Amino acid sequence: MVTLTGTQSGPAIHNGIAGAGTLVRYGDDSNECGALKLQFDAGRGTILRLSQVGVVPGQLNAMFFTHMHSDHTEGFAEIAQLRWNFNSAGPKLDVVCSEDAISTLGFTLSCRKLVMHIGDLFIQSGEIAQRISEDKQRLPGGPADILNIVTFQPTNEQQIVWTSGDVRVSAIRSTHIAGHASYRVDTPVGSVVIGGDASNDTPEPPRLTSTSDQVEKLAKGADVIVHSTMHPAMAPDKDSGMPPPVYYRQAATADLGAMAQRAGARYLMLTHLASSLGAQRHGPYKVPGGPLTEADYRKVVEASGFTGITIVGTDLATIRLPAKQAQ
Ligand SMILES: [Zn+2]
Repeated sequence: MVTLTGTQSGPAIHNGIAGAGTLVRYGDDSNECGALKLQFDAGRGTILRLSQVGVVPGQLNAMFFTHMHSDHTEGFAEIAQLRWNFNSAGPKLDVVCSEDAISTLGFTLSCRKLVMHIGDLFIQSGEIAQRISEDKQRLPGGPADILNIVTFQPTNEQQIVWTSGDVRVSAIRSTHIAGHASYRVDTPVGSVVIGGDASNDTPEPPRLTSTSDQVEKLAKGADVIVHSTMHPAMAPDKDSGMPPPVYYRQAATADLGAMAQRAGARYLMLTHLASSLGAQRHGPYKVPGGPLTEADYRKVVEASGFTGITIVGTDLATIRLPAKQAQ
């Protein structure tokens, strides 16, 4: 079961939409497809969306990050804090992400440091010490102590980064910022690819497509592709004011539809929509032509030739494989 826990694009905020994230659950009818619960990215408010589908932080089996942008990470502090508060007895939560990535511009993107310092605000405020004084079972180092970091070096070849029983998660390098990775979950009932904010290795036109060649390879034969997207209304030739590099480092909606068709996917779940449905502005940028509707996204995907099912992402949109039989 694939659930979008948040569909907001970037640091912009609009109408209660949660930050980017996808929950993948696997199981059978006896556990409502919930024997395994894997969270991919955790933007703003992820914990609230999870609570709406009955999932609390103590139940997550693993957390995966595509990259170190706050719209994909800032909701993790809430998740880690609550897990530490109520579940310090264990088990630890696996956090899977790229090794430190040194940008060519000289700084380092570090998931490891994000995880090590996830509780620092609450340590510095004195809360962690105060709560430990109330319950000595709580781990002494705060929220980071309840996390088990698992890093990998993303490459252009698919590699397995986490497994549990007959579920396998693999990763591949993709372009957005340094250290960006895309994931694929393979289960006996189907496969889902989480592209994140991937784009093509060629940073701007002229290029064959804005989508990632590596993600396309990863997505071959997958049932579901969940991917961030930019609507053509925001393109540099349309006067949105969005800097071209910001537009070009995401996958354009038409290119995603074409990629999903080539990969043979049954479902394309558009998420991290720029701009958000109904928004007059996307952060500081105009939405030329006025707020976008679901139909505006759907039209672009249909014109791309994708013949599968398109879901224009809203928070908590869910796909179940196999589809539930009518009773
Ligand atoms: Zn993003």
